[in-house]
Amino acid sequence: MLLIECPWCGKRDESEFSYAGEAHIARPLETGKLSDAEWADYLFMRKNPKGAHREQWLHAAGCRRYFNAERDTVSYQIKSTYKIGETPSEDRA
Ligand SMILES: [Zn+2]
Repeated sequence: MLLIECPWCGKRDESEFSYAGEAHIARPLETGKLSDAEWADYLFMRKNPKGAHREQWLHAAGCRRYFNAERDTVSYQIKSTYKIGETPSEDRA
């Protein structure tokens, strides 16, 4: 059984969570000035790394809040979880 730590609720079974895509995707400020290719890149193009990846998760069967996780895509190990807007542990000095 894989446990995922929600920043608000603590460790819960993975079945309570839903993957919500890559984290730290910033919406462009001036969308009207983007070319079709730049807009498509923002909407559809995502990283697919082998190894460390920052992702959004939803605690769907719990507090229903989104949070970020640092997960290894090879081992599935979640290194840390943190609230939206917080700094990942790897970036803290
Ligand atoms: Zn929660």
